Amino acid sequence: MIDKQITVTSPLLPDIQDFIPYLEDIWQRKWLTNNGHYHQKLENALAEYLKAPFVSLFTNGTLPLITALQALRITGEVITTPYSFVATTHSLWWNGIKPVFVDIDPKTCNIDPEKIEAAITPKTTAIMPVHCYGQPCDMLKIKEIADTYGLKVIYDAAHAFGVEIDGKSVLEFGDMSTLSFHATKVYNTVEGGALVCRDAETKKRIDYLKNFGFAGETTVVAPGINGKMDEIRSAYGLLSLKKVDGAILSRKKIAELYRKGLKDVEGISVMPDTEGVRHNYSYFPIFVDAEKYGMSRDDLYFKMQTKNIFGRRYFYPLISTFSTYRGLESAKPENLPVATRIANSVICLPMYAGLENDDIERIIEIIANQANRV
Ligand SMILES: *Cc1c(COP(=O)(O)O)cnc(C)c1O
Repeated sequence: MIDKQITVTSPLLPDIQDFIPYLEDIWQRKWLTNNGHYHQKLENALAEYLKAPFVSLFTNGTLPLITALQALRITGEVITTPYSFVATTHSLWWNGIKPVFVDIDPKTCNIDPEKIEAAITPKTTAIMPVHCYGQPCDMLKIKEIADTYGLKVIYDAAHAFGVEIDGKSVLEFGDMSTLSFHATKVYNTVEGGALVCRDAETKKRIDYLKNFGFAGETTVVAPGINGKMDEIRSAYGLLSLKKVDGAILSRKKIAELYRKGLKDVEGISVMPDTEGVRHNYSYFPIFVDAEKYGMSRDDLYFKMQTKNIFGRRYFYPLISTFSTYRGLESAKPENLPVATRIANSVICLPMYAGLENDDIERIIEIIANQANRV
């Protein structure tokens, strides 16, 4: 018998029967995009759910990064992490900004704040950290550095939907934060994203920028882009928002089962919850110590695939190793020993609401059996 295929994620879908009346209403209104009824409703609903006062919806999670840099007029060099999805660094490159990579903290997989200051030059204008796997960055330390050196902070919060620390949204920190609502994320609008800022004037400017720079029928105030979310995906987003709390709870239970099942497996480590943090369990990374485990990360990864378990090596390879970036001084592996080691040891296990207990047991068994074999 061939075991059922299990993928790293599976999208959170609204109920189709709830979606049909929304679609009928959109057909009636004949208003498909450009700040329509559902767009406005979703912006308000997300601002409330996320405890983030100023939210601008976008058509994906990459344009908010690019737009944030434009809105804040960031130039020169920006300090960032190599351990992320490529879009983080690409957004800098698209703005003609030089990325400066700083190594990560092995406990959180986030940029190591202790190593930021050494990377600051007269050309540095901002820091772009990522709340990797939804694990909050050391935002107080980053703020202290940014304030001392007069830098802006833009958080890539693509993984951090709904994450709170001591009851406060992570989106309240930094000058701006960006979100992705891609199909693979905890909350999705098929494709989509948002840019979160701290005041109404800045939101107004962001909204101009995402609409070609139009500030009125005949006034263009900036070289804007088209980043608008349409009505169909906004309506979909309103419906999936109702399901996201349930989905996060289900993910939490899966994380608990994985942690329990993998606890005593020699050579495999996992990330614990952090006290005071409302996690969203967006990913479940495991880290393979090849020597102790008796098998390399890649061998385990491909062995799992032969058993129809499709994890993903997030984040491998490091962004700093891609052809666009590898010539940079800061991209040298010697500068990034921790990120290099983690990228070579990580596998994200399947994690999504609705992943069944039997499947979780099967995944744990495959990983644990290898350890018993040696
Ligand atoms: C998904 C993701 C993005 C990009 O979002 P899209 O919606 O796919 O454009 C950016 N940064 C990180 C860290 C991501 O995981």
